[in-house]
Amino acid sequence: MSKKNIRTCSFCGRPMPEMFSGDNGALICSECIETGHRMIAAQQQVAEKLNDTDLGTLPTPQEIKDFLDQYVIGQDEAKRFLAVAVYNHYKRISQEISNDDVEIEKSNILLVGSTGTGKTLLARTIAKMLKVPFAIGDATALTQAGYVGEDVESLLVRLLQDADYDVKKAERGIVFIDEIDKIARKSENPSITRDVSGEGVQQSLLKMLEGSIVNVPPQGGRKHPEQELIHIDTKNILFICGGAFDGIERKIAQRMNTQAVGFAAQQEASLVDRSNLLQYIAPQDLKSYGLIPEIIGRLPVLTYLHPLTREALRNILTEPKNALTKQYKKLLAMDNVTLTFDDEALDYIVDKALEYKLGARGLRGLMEAVMTDLMFELPNHKQADQQQSFTITKAYAAEKLNREKLVQLKNAG
Ligand code: ADP
Repeated sequence: MSKKNIRTCSFCGRPMPEMFSGDNGALICSECIETGHRMIAAQQQVAEKLNDTDLGTLPTPQEIKDFLDQYVIGQDEAKRFLAVAVYNHYKRISQEISNDDVEIEKSNILLVGSTGTGKTLLARTIAKMLKVPFAIGDATALTQAGYVGEDVESLLVRLLQDADYDVKKAERGIVFIDEIDKIARKSENPSITRDVSGEGVQQSLLKMLEGSIVNVPPQGGRKHPEQELIHIDTKNILFICGGAFDGIERKIAQRMNTQAVGFAAQQEASLVDRSNLLQYIAPQDLKSYGLIPEIIGRLPVLTYLHPLTREALRNILTEPKNALTKQYKKLLAMDNVTLTFDDEALDYIVDKALEYKLGARGLRGLMEAVMTDLMFELPNHKQADQQQSFTITKAYAAEKLNREKLVQLKNAG
């Protein structure tokens, strides 16, 4: 453990002439205070604008995307689609007041991408920015009404809880439904026998996505005949669905091959990027996969997420506003320790995430494995008013991430 007595800023790590210390002994330089102040002001400005549905003050799609960029790495197409959809959603709500004949249809969103690429994170970040109630549900847990499992209304119960039972607030919230691909019906042809887990659930979801008055039991759970139900209008609730749609690339390829007829088409086909077919996803592919056309019609904004590259995983460790390395630095700063990560150490952690196929979700477990011993031991060496520093080197990370630990993390994931 290397100890130094240089007074450095706990945030940027530089020795600065003007420094302020908090109650916890952490030091901050005037430059970091200014940067922090600017970031908070910018965030407040966007949030204030969004609380108001007056179009003049609504943030532009670019501003919405800029906000997402602070938390989510890459996924530019998905961010652009989301930003426009959210912007239009608010326009739509505000035009309800105007007496015009043109009705703007609801723009529910479908995010297609492998697990752990940021679908939930995008939906969560949007909700955080809008300061609207937010609920997450998993389509696999849902069953058709009357069968064992959760009714689709349970999603709205969660939304209502998040809105502190303020129905008006809940009616403008966002619901994220994950694993929507898991309720696809097994074959493209409607089955004669009823498909309880798939098509039936799609039908129940449909009503909610379309916009209808749904009666929900206030405490969740099953409806009782004597229980008073709460009526929630889903017309203005934004639904964001997500799914990995494993194997959908095959359907996309099939469609693109059958479309490619003639010389010009053949030339076009040679321009197709076969390594990332997901970017060509179209509603027909979802139908071939087993979503009913009515559901597809109610999810008009269709976009995809890229698999995370090495570079993206590396950036996830350091760039987002609440990046893991920033979180550990903050934790240790509270014990007067300036923590630094060597670039090679972070590269090593990313290598292990790739080697053991742990993905972005596994980064947290890896970092925790590297940091736990240190976080256990450092407070024992704490000396009042003395700033220490510690650097996570590649050798240190490698020592903590032995094979046994990695296999354990892989099995846990
Ligand atoms: P999905 O919903 O696509 O399965 P999540 O959004 O739940 O994946 O991602 C899991 C975790 O991985 C997130 O909480 C986040 O820490 C990290 N993560 C995934 N993708 C990104 C990304 N593009 N940018 C930043 N962090 C990400």
